[in-house]
Amino acid sequence: MIPYPKKLNLAQAPTPFHALDRLSEQLAKRASDCPRIWIKRDDQTGCVTSGNKVRKLEYLLADALAKGCDTIITSGGVQSNHCRAVAILGAQLGLKVHLLLRSDIKPQPVGNLLLDQLAGATISHYSQQEFKQLDGLFESWQTQYAAQGRCCYSIPTGGSNGTGLWGYVAAAEELMADFSTEKIEPSYIIHATGSGGTQAGLTVGCKLLGLSAQVEGYAVCDNSAYFERRVLEDIQQWIKQYQIPIEIERLKIATNDGYIGPDYGLAGPEVFAMIKDLAALEGVILDPVYTGKAFYGMVEEIKAGRYSGASDIVFVHTGGLFGLLAQQDKLAY
Ligand SMILES: *Cc1c(COP(=O)(O)O)cnc(C)c1O
Repeated sequence: MIPYPKKLNLAQAPTPFHALDRLSEQLAKRASDCPRIWIKRDDQTGCVTSGNKVRKLEYLLADALAKGCDTIITSGGVQSNHCRAVAILGAQLGLKVHLLLRSDIKPQPVGNLLLDQLAGATISHYSQQEFKQLDGLFESWQTQYAAQGRCCYSIPTGGSNGTGLWGYVAAAEELMADFSTEKIEPSYIIHATGSGGTQAGLTVGCKLLGLSAQVEGYAVCDNSAYFERRVLEDIQQWIKQYQIPIEIERLKIATNDGYIGPDYGLAGPEVFAMIKDLAALEGVILDPVYTGKAFYGMVEEIKAGRYSGASDIVFVHTGGLFGLLAQQDKLAY
């Protein structure tokens, strides 16, 4: 394996890895050669730091500290899991955190936003329209902080860039150990994809490690062509920045964009039904923004026979619990 850059130990890892046998059994009644479904519990990377973003932030925040920075600026949707993880970790490390959040209506202080506020982050709210000039917003805040003598470190939305990518290269290595413990060779590693960093890291991680599993992102916004471009951009930046010897011509970047639903952050009733079913069947809680859509999509594809022939498939649970709590009105019992 190529040498990793320095990281901070922020994630509770390795995370658990186990089979969802009651679900697999239930699906086997509908699809004759249903694969055995496994789950990687990255929803357990920490309590308030839970989810996939903390893995990327181990590398990003190590870089920020190495550069002597005292202020972190980052951005996302108003219920961003990434921004919440940055707010909490910033408070843990004694860094000032400024979040640029996108919302068109006056947001309720619930879910991730409530935790951002508790962690003492400075928050600026912008409309969808204003967010189109996000680069300009970052620049103008950076200039203001520089004038105050602060050293500013900017993290893109979702922590997806060549540095954050390492988080899921490391996770791929963890998965390889999980597969070896369970003596399985899964054909697919499936996860929700939003800003592309998880997909980029897992895709190159599997390639470097020689894992045969195909990584497949289920889009929660934007189409397959967008992710192909976005994921390749991150990979190219990573290769250049760390001089990685890897052939990208033969990398397959696979995205399923058939389950985005109404819009980013908005899910249809079928996703909420999936969340309820899996919670009661397996005690695993998905969310309506990311993992619920991806998991619903995976189950539909299993029913349609898309994964027939595969003996084992893995779902990476990337977190999102606080985003679910922010949509409790859609979960009426
Ligand atoms: C951000 C996020 C994702 C998507 O990860 P990306 O690396 O941004 O593509 C998936 N699930 C959850 C819960 C997230 O917060």
